[in-house]
Amino acid sequence: MSRTDRAVAEELDRADPLAAYRDRFVAPEPDLIYLDGNSLGRLPKTTAAVLAEVVSEQWGRGLIRSWEHWIELAQRIGDEIAAGIVEAEPGEVVVSDSTTVNLYKLAVAALDARPGRRVLLCDDDNFPTDSYVFQALAAARDLELRVIPTDLDAGLSTADVIEALDTDVALASFSHVAYRSGAIADLAAVTAAAHDVGALTLWDLSHSGGSIPVPLRSAGVDLAVGCTYKYLCGGPGAPAYLYVRHELQDQLRQPIWGWFGQRDQFAMSGRYDAAPGITSFLVGTPPVLSMLGAREGVRVVADAGLEALRAKGMALTSYLVELADAWLVPLGFRLASPREAERRGSHVTLHHSDAWRICRALIDRRVVPDFRTPDRLRLGPAPLTTSYAEVWDGLDRLRRLVEDGVHESYADSRSRVT
Ligand SMILES: *Cc1c(COP(=O)(O)O)cnc(C)c1O
Repeated sequence: MSRTDRAVAEELDRADPLAAYRDRFVAPEPDLIYLDGNSLGRLPKTTAAVLAEVVSEQWGRGLIRSWEHWIELAQRIGDEIAAGIVEAEPGEVVVSDSTTVNLYKLAVAALDARPGRRVLLCDDDNFPTDSYVFQALAAARDLELRVIPTDLDAGLSTADVIEALDTDVALASFSHVAYRSGAIADLAAVTAAAHDVGALTLWDLSHSGGSIPVPLRSAGVDLAVGCTYKYLCGGPGAPAYLYVRHELQDQLRQPIWGWFGQRDQFAMSGRYDAAPGITSFLVGTPPVLSMLGAREGVRVVADAGLEALRAKGMALTSYLVELADAWLVPLGFRLASPREAERRGSHVTLHHSDAWRICRALIDRRVVPDFRTPDRLRLGPAPLTTSYAEVWDGLDRLRRLVEDGVHESYADSRSRVT
């Protein structure tokens, strides 16, 4: 039997300790191969029922009385994330707002905690929304935005970060897993280097939370943000989470003072008095429905366990790379992710000069990847919801399509959402 036979994938599926988790997700179109779990995770089967109950009972019947058990939901779900998704203590994580807004809140808090320092350090491979927030902050506060050029395939270089750090740096902020290549940054080494010059660190966990272990405490990370709708399967636009290391919580002050961050919220005092601990990082009334949807995703991921997910993520992406080497490299593709499984998260990116048209044609073949600029096809076989056979079938459809030149009849112009 050759390594590229489909029987190999079937054997890997039989031996997969997480295989049963696939049944805990809705899959109404069995022939659809979904390789975009890193953009929008699949729908857990429990979510629809939970949301139906929340809408009709908690909202419809309970009305305002339900706030009794909604009021600390942000902290409670934060604690579930701390217990099962990232390495953090109770009271260090809270669910709120979007990743972008949380990034802004924490970046301002960090900059204010380092008065006199004039540099915000980041890199040019971070997710665009992060870069936009930093550009705005630099402009508003007349800071130097020091941008490290990062290799699009290899990811953030610790040596480059060390080189760029000095005692003018107030805050260093990067993605833990690069959204394009999947490269993993060295959380502990970069954080330690920033601390050596007295800077704070703010990590974006959007592509790592729920796919690889995130050792926030042991790496000494100060601040982090992440979203719940990718690997955490929380649903489109589900609220994000943020992490603030215990030791910093009462030193840092986020800039959007709202009543959910107020000490005695219902005293309705006219003066803002920040609540102690992580609560002061909340702002206004949370999206209860979306939060309860997100909790279902967090629970199923936490139940599977990050060690098991990491093991499958490495095996699944390695299998994908092996098939890509055999079938796709001869067709003009090139691996645009780290080759060593330890150095990449749970998605794999392939470069091809015609990636956009291939992506469109592949979606019509019922395989859903996504396209990332400038010329990359991103394949995200989320370890919780993807089988080895799906990876085999997806790559098989991809190679046949390119072999037959099917993509050549597609238009070159991009759509609004890629
Ligand atoms: C997906 C993602 C975001 C999304 O931010 P939103 O505010 O939820 O739109 C931010 N950063 C990174 C690294 C991401 O991958």
